[in-house]
Amino acid sequence: MTVAVLAVQGAFAEHERALARLGASFCELRRKSDLSRAFDGLILPGGESTVQGKLLRELGMFGELKARIADGMPVFGTCAGLLLLAKETVNDSRAYFRTMDISAVRNAYGRQLGSFFAESDFKGIGKIPMTFIRAPYIQSVSGSAQVLAECGGRIVAARQKNQLVTAFHPELNEDLSVHRYFLDMIGQAARE
Ligand code: GLN
Repeated sequence: MTVAVLAVQGAFAEHERALARLGASFCELRRKSDLSRAFDGLILPGGESTVQGKLLRELGMFGELKARIADGMPVFGTCAGLLLLAKETVNDSRAYFRTMDISAVRNAYGRQLGSFFAESDFKGIGKIPMTFIRAPYIQSVSGSAQVLAECGGRIVAARQKNQLVTAFHPELNEDLSVHRYFLDMIGQAARE
């Protein structure tokens, strides 16, 4: 099993470190030719969704990745990656892949609470650490999207079939349970 990590901007190295700690092999997607590598799942890291969205289009990777996600390839978006997958962002007219039935609020915690740490329950895992950095949250889920975690009364993780998103950054904590959860999703998809 190989996990591709979008490596055009943002916190991709931290995801690679988490994958390495779990013994999972990974490859980086930096340019269109990298799409010809064999990979079974994709991580969209945190960073700046506007920059990542622009680069994905400029590098000619956008259409093929969107098609593969829509076709069922497991994908895990953290923070900016959540915004790339969201059907809409209620306080920003920009939208990207739009493959997931969630409405997001961008930079949702204001300046004071731009970055913070919390612990909360994640469905099927239990209590985990959550690091938020100028994070979005999910205002609502629809269709077959399901809430996996809330923090302070706000939805901060969700799943819709092959798509997993967290508003927080599991790659910035030592806890590997969310990455393990994603690897299980890839394993299941391979068996289906
Ligand atoms: N504020 C960023 C955005 O809007 C997301 C922040 C992050 O990924 N840590 O894209």
